Amino acid sequence: MGKIIGVDLGTTNSCVAVIDGGEPLVLPNSEGSRTTPSMVGFTEEGEQFVGQQAKRQAIINPELTVYDIKRLLGHKYNSDQVEKYAEILPFNIVENTNGDAWVEVDGDRYSPQEISSLILRKMRQTAEDYFGEEITEAVITVPAYFNDAQRNATKDAGKIAGLTVRRIINEPTAAALAYGYEETDHANLVVFDLGGGTFDVSIVQLRGGVFEVVSTAGDNHLGGEDFDRVVLDFLMERFEEDTGIDVSDDRMALQRLKEAAENAKCELSTASETNINLPFLAVDDSGPRHLSLDLSRSQLNDLCYELIERLDIPCNDAMDEAGLSNSDIDDVLLVGGMTRMPAVQKRVEEIFDRKPHKGVNPDEVVAKGAAIQSGILGGEIQEVILLDITPFSLGIRVSGDRFSPIIDKNAPVPTSATKIFTTTEDNQDVVTVTVLQGEDDKASANKLLGMFNLTGISPAPAGKPRIEVTFEIDTDGIVDVSAKDLNTGASQSITVEGHSGLSSEELQRAMKRSEKAEASKTFA
Ligand code: AMP
Repeated sequence: MGKIIGVDLGTTNSCVAVIDGGEPLVLPNSEGSRTTPSMVGFTEEGEQFVGQQAKRQAIINPELTVYDIKRLLGHKYNSDQVEKYAEILPFNIVENTNGDAWVEVDGDRYSPQEISSLILRKMRQTAEDYFGEEITEAVITVPAYFNDAQRNATKDAGKIAGLTVRRIINEPTAAALAYGYEETDHANLVVFDLGGGTFDVSIVQLRGGVFEVVSTAGDNHLGGEDFDRVVLDFLMERFEEDTGIDVSDDRMALQRLKEAAENAKCELSTASETNINLPFLAVDDSGPRHLSLDLSRSQLNDLCYELIERLDIPCNDAMDEAGLSNSDIDDVLLVGGMTRMPAVQKRVEEIFDRKPHKGVNPDEVVAKGAAIQSGILGGEIQEVILLDITPFSLGIRVSGDRFSPIIDKNAPVPTSATKIFTTTEDNQDVVTVTVLQGEDDKASANKLLGMFNLTGISPAPAGKPRIEVTFEIDTDGIVDVSAKDLNTGASQSITVEGHSGLSSEELQRAMKRSEKAEASKTFA
């Protein structure tokens, strides 16, 4: 059997690892880096570059560089998230024919799945270069908060990259694996994951070698980029105070400021002061104007105070939902590059009343866990049972626009559950099963996953027929729904799988385009 790679497909950075000699090994990319920026750059000639090269050209060519694509995966164009996102990104977000959010680069449209596939392809290439053999299988991680559409979109990204996605696993589960807890018999863990774009807190329980994510909470709009943004705003203000020049509409200057802000933030994790130097940031009548200033760690902490305060609520929510208090926790595991910031670590210590565990490099921990899962699938590592949870309740619409949950939020997956329903009218011969995901009592306030009709119900007074509705969720979180009239045996079912947003033609087209690009070696 060939190697199965473990990929952390991150919002800002991605990382690939494999099991080698029974241990997870992070593979360096062609530029020698162990993590790769999740950025895709395009040239006017139609070439594509992934990673550091894309990040570098982002400054000169913001319109031809796509980043943060994970935020768009599985999203509709007309959603609050996409609206918010459109405001801050230099590239065009467009509405695809089916209402999904796609990106437009130099007149060409790309699905987020296709952009993600380019990043995955680079990860695949990294592993192929290392082993000198073709890699066709992967385990990919996703945030615990990812819904069905987002998980399926991730799978399709893998498919376009020529990878069979053997498993999608939740990032906190991967982190717990990478921290070596499969050897532990009993533990309650907090996985605190503050990455570039998202914040997730999960409570993972270990019982006799079984991992179970018992609760998750988080903030999809809190990550390193927000910290960069407050520093960027500060730099912009200071530049305007000094020079009278407002660079907020100058994309080129903004990109440079963004990079300088991020570098300063990272440096201040180890140094107490740093100098920010951006020559030729703007030009006015007096000639070129430069930005040069010192920033201290305490200034950075002041600027980021509100962001750091936002870490509390999700932590408390996850603990409440798990029904645990600080004294029940055995370890707090840090995941995500942002957890290197001392003020973040201090806050974690205050929230959970203990020093967090920093044993594994926070940028690599998720990919290492994915590799361990790959090793389990490939038979290189002894079986560990993994139980994930469904992050949302799943159920159907019943009369009066009410939502009837069938599988409750935080139920361990794989799982299945059944409920009996009936008709509301005499001689009703068809019922529509409307599959929903969410927590609102009102059906229409929840997310629609799919619909189907069960026909052939035998004539009977309202309330008489017994219709059994079964929900099944597999290990990847893919949902199967079936309905059966217990009287006639008539049944009907759907798999809520086609919800990645791509039609099969779009998928085929993306795969062709991707193969063609690979053949012409345009991937960096
Ligand atoms: P990740 O999504 O885990 O790759 O995390 C990426 C985020 O971590 C980015 O916002 C980085 O700027 C941030 N990051 C990486 N290294 C450091 C560091 N030493 N100090 C603070 N933030 C960092």
